[in-house]
Amino acid sequence: MTVTTGTLYIVSAPSGAGKTSLVKALLDSEPHIRVSVSHTTRAMRPGETNGVNYHFVSREQFTAMLDHNDFLEHAQVFDNLYGTSQQWVEKTLAEGFDLILEIDWQGAQQVRKLMPQAKSIFILPPTQEALRHRLTNRGQDSSEIIERRMHDAVSEMSHYVEYDYLVINDDFAHALSDLKAIFRANKLRQEPQQQRHAGLLSELLV
Ligand code: 5GP
Repeated sequence: MTVTTGTLYIVSAPSGAGKTSLVKALLDSEPHIRVSVSHTTRAMRPGETNGVNYHFVSREQFTAMLDHNDFLEHAQVFDNLYGTSQQWVEKTLAEGFDLILEIDWQGAQQVRKLMPQAKSIFILPPTQEALRHRLTNRGQDSSEIIERRMHDAVSEMSHYVEYDYLVINDDFAHALSDLKAIFRANKLRQEPQQQRHAGLLSELLV
């Protein structure tokens, strides 16, 4: 019997492009999709919950996990370390769920090498001004950090060419529907459809 495993999706975006809100809205309407909760050494922001937004760990804990080869991918973003649990990804895909990794371009490159079948999506803001506005409106970071994040955003966005799909987050509802279309189209690919509808296909071909 062929085992149906889920599809791995990589979603990247510069900070402030609305990636987390879009992914959250997607998960609310698509129960077969899971999102990986990364480990990070960054400090928790107001409103975040340990184990929900991230697993917040110390540098020592992170390094110990690295030494145990616990990460499918990992990267330093700004001054912090981020990593994706390999065991969780493998287990969730084996259970048949589609799985999203919200990771940066460095992690995306590592995952593509290990799992070339992964689909990657890059979310872009409609303008640089909109991005700056969103970063400022968060009210959680100093202006110095915002300027640095703007600079890092441009460098992150320069990697859009490495991705399979581009979604422009101008209108939220429109961007969400674009995102849903990508997942829907992938579900309709011949191979998974063949597995899902094996009975029908053999009946149609007698
Ligand atoms: P933030 O600290 O604002 O939540 O995320 C900063 C950046 O780190 C974002 O670009 C986010 O996608 C990226 N990031 C979050 N988790 C991971 C991870 O596990 N691996 C990698 N490579 N990047 C991550």
